[in-house]
Amino acid sequence: MKIAVFPGSFDPITKGHESIVNRACTLFDTIYIAIGINANKSNLFSLDKRTKFIEDTFKKNPKIKVVSYQELTVKLCQELGAKFILRGLRNTSDLNYEFPISHANRLLDPSIETVFFITDPGFSAINSSIVRDIYKHGGDIKAFIPDAVEL
Ligand code: ADP
Repeated sequence: MKIAVFPGSFDPITKGHESIVNRACTLFDTIYIAIGINANKSNLFSLDKRTKFIEDTFKKNPKIKVVSYQELTVKLCQELGAKFILRGLRNTSDLNYEFPISHANRLLDPSIETVFFITDPGFSAINSSIVRDIYKHGGDIKAFIPDAVEL
């Protein structure tokens, strides 16, 4: 069984995240979408809402499970028996951000590989923080979030 963890804030899940997960399904038997609970980040959508948006997005896909966590990502992977961490790369800023995290995770547990998917060009401009700004100012975010999500 090839098991991956896709960690993130998912505040909210976007079409970019959805695309990465769908593409990664060709490699993995199970993907845990893991919502990180970060006390220092103020979220727009509650944990319950973020969870529901993800569940609705993948309700027809039995490979996808949703969890939330507060510990180290590698610790979560160990508990779930996951040998892969999934991340998306939109541009070189994402790459610079991911480098030290990936190195640190490797030092913590060298048996866990981080697997990066380069974003589909159609989704590379989608970013949860811009989506949050548009929503906060009353804009329509339908074009950015999965079709199955009902706000
Ligand atoms: P984080 O706060 O950990 O960056 P996010 O929820 O913003 O959490 O993102 C989780 C993962 O999804 C990251 O690997 C990020 O690079 C990736 N991601 C975010 N937006 C997109 C997108 N539009 N296309 C592909 N990957 C994306």
